[in-house]
Amino acid sequence: MISNKANKLPPFHVMEVLERAQELEGSGKNIIHLEIGEPDFPTAPHICAAASSAIWSGETKYTHSLGLPELREAIADYYNSKFKLELNPGQIVVTSGTSPALLLTFMCLMEKRDEVIISNPYYACYPNFVQYLGGKPIFVHTHEACGFNMEPEAVAGTITSKTKAIMINSPCNPTGHVMSAQNLRRISEAAGKIPIISDEIYQGLIYKGKDHSIFEYTSNAFVLNGFSKLYAMTGWRLGYLIAPMEYIRPLQKLQQNFFICANSFVQHAGIAALIGPQDHVKEMIATYNTRRKFIIKRLKDIGFGINYEPDGAYYVLANAKEFSKDSLDLSRRLLEEAGVAVTPGIDFGAKGYLRFSYANSIENIREGMDRIEKYLNG
Ligand code: PMP
Repeated sequence: MISNKANKLPPFHVMEVLERAQELEGSGKNIIHLEIGEPDFPTAPHICAAASSAIWSGETKYTHSLGLPELREAIADYYNSKFKLELNPGQIVVTSGTSPALLLTFMCLMEKRDEVIISNPYYACYPNFVQYLGGKPIFVHTHEACGFNMEPEAVAGTITSKTKAIMINSPCNPTGHVMSAQNLRRISEAAGKIPIISDEIYQGLIYKGKDHSIFEYTSNAFVLNGFSKLYAMTGWRLGYLIAPMEYIRPLQKLQQNFFICANSFVQHAGIAALIGPQDHVKEMIATYNTRRKFIIKRLKDIGFGINYEPDGAYYVLANAKEFSKDSLDLSRRLLEEAGVAVTPGIDFGAKGYLRFSYANSIENIREGMDRIEKYLNG
């Protein structure tokens, strides 16, 4: 018998769209991919070389469950120098991607029926993880007119005796919103003794202003990050979690039981990514920014509602109500009939919206926009 929990778990729609798109491609159809949040750039050569040399020198065994000491040090140095912090490498757990870091954090903090405050729209997996563990996601609605900003007053108003964590994600998937320093400070104040879980996986991918980490405002936080996005390493599966020291031992036991450790040679690639040259990162950011401006203009010209400036990550959450009340059906039609894969807003609690990823070449984005324009506007 399949467990009720497994049966009830919603699919991750973006993966379903991708898998259907690949099926159509297999039958000879040309599809433009604007659904998946995956850099189209290859991983930099010096990172690949570090992994390769680690494999050939026999770094193919289990590592310490918390990760290689050199990598934990490199992660602490990265955060400390970027945000002027004093984190200790002992606060870091290296994981096989940010997703396991998220799971470990929720498992460490939550009992059944506990509540986690999450902004809506949200990254699809947050409420799914919380519900799978028997907890309850409590949504704070954010609005397009306010740039999908998570208001500290709204957060404060949803805190109860069962609140175990406040989840934030800046830059945000799916809105591209970047939280201001003032907002991060005020949310930290509103949180009081409740820990903040800050998913910083898109950190660095911002096109205006200055990057921030929640650790600049509170030490009562769990920071999740990884190498998938900034270093174009989605398939390598490498991430990490930075937590207050007293949580490290329980997190370590969870990691030992559930995952043992992160991939050994991939951890060597992570060290190279952090301490090696960063020019490729700067180039990728500049390219994303060009695409961002291009796609926003084209989407607006087609008639999608974008009343805010998405200035981080590589997503635009566009209001599609002008074209259909059912954005799941619209995304299906765009894929099957127009040959463009986009993600329906329901993946993120955003009915009537479509999420466009601009992690694709400008030529492909242009072709995707041309196809959508022709399909919707004739
Ligand atoms: N958090 C957010 C907000 C994401 O968009 C993603 C990937 N789409 C993840 C976490 C998971 O990333 P990974 O497991 O590849 O590190």
